[in-house]
Amino acid sequence: MSIATGIGYDCHRLVEGRRLVIGGVEIEHTHGLLGHSDADVLTHAIIDALLGAAGLGDIGQHFPDTDERYRDADSLELLRACAAMLRRAGAEVEHVDATVVLERPKLAPVRDQIRTTLAAALGVSESRLNVKATRGEGMGFIGRAEGAAALAVATISHEP
Ligand code: MG
Repeated sequence: MSIATGIGYDCHRLVEGRRLVIGGVEIEHTHGLLGHSDADVLTHAIIDALLGAAGLGDIGQHFPDTDERYRDADSLELLRACAAMLRRAGAEVEHVDATVVLERPKLAPVRDQIRTTLAAALGVSESRLNVKATRGEGMGFIGRAEGAAALAVATISHEP
C-alpha cells in the first residue's frame, strides 16, 4: 500500500449580507464569506488537500469560479464530486485534519456538526476527519475580521 499526503489552503473575505457556511454548516452571524460559490473556506481547503494527495490538481481546475454552474454552489456537492474522483483513481481517504482561522464567531458550538457533515459528504467515518479552529488574535486580515482562512492536510492510500 502506498501513502500520499496533500496540503490545502483557502481564504475568503467576510462581508455583510452573505450566509456564513463553514464545513457545510450554516452559522448564524452578521457577516458571511464572499465568493463565487457558497465560499465555504474549510470545505475548499479540504478539497485541495485531497486533490493534492491524489495528484489530481486543484479545486480551480475542476470547479472554476468562472463557470456559472458553480455560482452559489453548495461546496459539499463539490466535496462529494472530489471524493468520487478519488475513488475512481483507486484512492482511499485515510485521514483529513483541518484548521479554520476565524476571529468570530466561535466555532466550538458547531464543530461536531461540521465534523459529522464533512465526514458524511466525504464518505468516511468521523474518526478519519478532524476539525480545529483558532483565531487571529487581533492581527492581520483575520484578526481584523476582514476574512477567514482554512488549512487542511489529507492522507490517502493506494493499493499497489
Ligand atoms: Mg475558496
